[in-house]
Amino acid sequence: MGCDEVRKRLTAWADGELPPREAERIDHHLSRCPACRLEAHGQRQLSAALNTLPAVIVPAGLAERTRRVFRTRLERPGLAQWWQQLSLVMRGAVCGAALAGLLCGAVLGTSLSRLAPDNTANLYQTLYADNGIFP
Ligand SMILES: [Zn+2]
Repeated sequence: MGCDEVRKRLTAWADGELPPREAERIDHHLSRCPACRLEAHGQRQLSAALNTLPAVIVPAGLAERTRRVFRTRLERPGLAQWWQQLSLVMRGAVCGAALAGLLCGAVLGTSLSRLAPDNTANLYQTLYADNGIFP
């Protein structure tokens, strides 16, 4: 086990979280490597200091409140949810706008086909041909 590998595991080693076999391998490395031993000593001091801190008491309901905030702020409503949230008046306005759009499209489509001289060319072809741009 090399120094880099040992140092990545020193926090877990100092906290006594490693399996016995892996902790023994680190102990063996520390017995031969003064640099890692010094690092391990600092890690143990840090771990001991952190263990003297008082335990944090999480307020009741914090997890549920956090989940609720994430749901309301991060999740985007789908189209079905959006539709259900609309009032009846707004649903009517959306349907009216959609119908008006369809009607405009139908009227424009009919008008453009009448403008074309041979009923197959589009408006741009007609305009280009009238201005000598289009052969
Ligand atoms: Zn080392």
